[in-house]
Order: sequence, then C-alpha cells, then structure tokens
Amino acid sequence: MNILVINCGSSSLKYQLVDMSNEKVLAKGLAEKIGLEDSIFTHSPDGKYKLVKKGTLKDHEEALNIVMDSLVDEKYGVIKALTEIDAVGHRIVHGGEYYSSSVLIDDDVVDAIKKCIEVAPLHNPANILGINACKRLLPGIPMVAVFDTAFHQTMPKEAYIYPLPYEYYNKYKVRKYGFHGTSHKYVSQRAACILNKPIEELKIITCHLGNGASLTAIKNGKSIDTTMGFTPLEGLAMGTRCGSIDPSIVTYLMGKENIDSHEVDEILNKKSGVLGISGVSSDFRDIESAVEDGNSRAQLALDVFDYKVKTSIGSYVAAMNGVDAIVFTAGLGENSAYTRKNICSGLSYLGMTIDDEKNSIRREEVIISTPDSKVKIIVIPTDEEMAIARDTKEIIVNDVLDKVLY
Ligand code: ADP
Repeated sequence: MNILVINCGSSSLKYQLVDMSNEKVLAKGLAEKIGLEDSIFTHSPDGKYKLVKKGTLKDHEEALNIVMDSLVDEKYGVIKALTEIDAVGHRIVHGGEYYSSSVLIDDDVVDAIKKCIEVAPLHNPANILGINACKRLLPGIPMVAVFDTAFHQTMPKEAYIYPLPYEYYNKYKVRKYGFHGTSHKYVSQRAACILNKPIEELKIITCHLGNGASLTAIKNGKSIDTTMGFTPLEGLAMGTRCGSIDPSIVTYLMGKENIDSHEVDEILNKKSGVLGISGVSSDFRDIESAVEDGNSRAQLALDVFDYKVKTSIGSYVAAMNGVDAIVFTAGLGENSAYTRKNICSGLSYLGMTIDDEKNSIRREEVIISTPDSKVKIIVIPTDEEMAIARDTKEIIVNDVLDKVLY
C-alpha cells in the first residue's frame, strides 16, 4: 500500500510517498512560495537524483500537479502511474472539539474543518485547498485527516478551560486546544518502546522544540496538558512568537504605539520570541553562534527560552505527580546539546542527570541520562509524516474490513 502524505501550509506544500509494506519513503519534497513569482519546487526520490525547479506556482493545485508529474516522471519518478497511490493522508492543523482521532474524509469532515477556520485562519484554509486539489487529481482515492489538535482532546476540563467568563467557551469555543499533537503522540510512543514499558504505565513530558515549541504532559499515554493553547501563540517563548505573557501588555502596547489589533498580533507572532529578545535571528543556530561571539542579548534570549521550558517541566511534574521520562524532539530538541544541558541541569532535584558524552550524539534515538538517573532523558527525532501515514493506513484498512463484514 502506497500512501501519499500531504502537509499544506499557507504558501507551502510538503509531501512524502511511503510504501507501507516496509515503511520506506519512496520520495519526498517541498513546494515553497506558492502564489509568488519565485516559487521553488524540490523533489527527492529515493536512490535517484534530486529535482529542483524554479518558476511560478499559481496555487496549491498547480503545486500538487507538479508533485504528481514528478512522482510518475521517467527520470525522477518512483511509481509508474498515479493509480499506484492507494490513499492520501492530510495533516490538518485544527479539528476543534470535533475530532479526537484521525478520520476518513467525507463532506461532513470538510465542513467541520471549514468551521474551524475561525480559530485557525492561517492554516485550515490551506489544508482545505490541499484536500480539494487531491480530490480533483486523484478521483476516488480515499483520504484521511490527521489533526494536530486531536491528541490533546483527552485533556481534563481544568486544563483546557481559561479563567474567562464561561459564556465565551459556550459561544465561541474559546479554550485550550494544543498543537503538535501528531509529534507528541509519536515520540511518546517511541519513548515507551525504548524504555520497554507499556505507555499506560508511564508519565512522560515531551518537549517539541523547533521554530514553534510546545511541551506536553502525557500520563498513561494520554495528553493531560500542553503549553500551546487556543492558538499556537501560547506557552513557551519560540523563534518569533512570544508565548505566554501578561495579557495586559497587549492593550498597553496598542495605546503606547498607536497600533491596531492586526499590528499587535503581527508583533506577538512574528517579531517576538528569541528573535525579539536577541535582535539577531529566529534561528537558534544563529543565536548560538552569536553567543560564541559574546553577544549578551543572544545569551539572554537562550536563557529566557530555556527558563520557560524548565519551569514548564516543573509544572507538568506537579500535574502528573511525578515523571518517568523527558523526551526532546524537533529541530532544536534533536540537535542542540547546549539547550538540552541547560534545561536539564536545573532539574537535578528530580534526580535527573544528563550524560555529557551521550548528549553530544546527534540525529538518532538515544537515552542521554546517566544509567543511575531516576528520570530518563531521551532524544527522539520526530517523524510526523510517518505517523500520518500509519494513521491513514490503519483507517483505510479498518474501513475496508467494515465494508467486507457488513
Ligand atoms: P519547524 O518545523 O517548527 O519549522 P524545526 O523542527 O524544523 O521547526 O526546527 C527548526 C529550528 O531548529 C531552527 O530554527 C533552528 O533554530 C533549530 N536547529 C536546527 N538544527 C540545529 C542545530 N544543529 N543547533 C541548534 N539549533 C538547531
């Protein structure tokens, strides 16, 4: 069974074609700057040369067209015909309170995704464009929606209700949803495998630290709290996002700078976080090298970032009454030994000791705590695409079985 995984952003489209008989990635790629004149398309087929095209990709349908052409291309292709694609798995950012797991896409599912546009105006419209384009280009092929929010639907009410007038929850569904769910679920399940224990017996804190960053408290395999909220702006400091701040700062700045809600939103989402503090970059590699050059604001940006992660870990230990493992994943979590060391060295009261030598290993699953450390610290590269492909396969297989049995 070949599954095409599609991840549509507002101006990008990432894809992977996976042969599920052995979970081999046959090809993967990315279309960037869709809608602009200088779009870039990169296609990486397994065992063949990479294809890079520059030009104009008008919209997501045109981008998907070029994806399909490349997949069956004589020189760069990996399948002979599009009929070799058995199903499509779509990453959908917001499923609101409608979905607590992945689902087969039908008209009702598309309606629910549309209803969530109000709370995910940047992401869900692009996801719908991707679904519609696939419907046209691959008619009749089953498609599955895998939601970033679904894994967090197990949070108890005390974790997801904000201390606001309750009517806003009833009227507008203002509550914590949480994001990065596919990644948090995937790495927590891998952690249970690595520790050789049933996930139902574990308390795990997963730290997804990339451009966007979030922590999740996972008790017995279920998300019970997470740092992102109604939107992906809440929680930790991030590359360009401020994370949690005193809400009064918003109205204060609007008055002082004479800016409207759109402008303040832009500041909080695009000009804050480690970029805002350092003035150097949103990329942690640039910030770490500025620190090496003696830049004190770059150092402060890293200190603020690590402090937020550390104190959030502390609060999730309280939420779960203990912790068995801390997992680091995503660009920064997988690669930055400095960040992991800085975060963990402040958590010695938990009986958590990092092994400096193991901490320097990169890009593979590895336990980086010392053998006597009470809490295990593990680095696990995330693989959201494979998690989406697995969910898609499971749903398609169950659907076929249901049809055969009834
Ligand atoms: P996203 O998917 O949210 O865009 P990623 O998970 O790809 O983010 O993470 C990207 C971030 O990871 C980059 O901004 C960079 O700061 C950080 N990163 C990647 N590699 C390294 C590294 N070797 N050292 C430090 N930071 C790194």
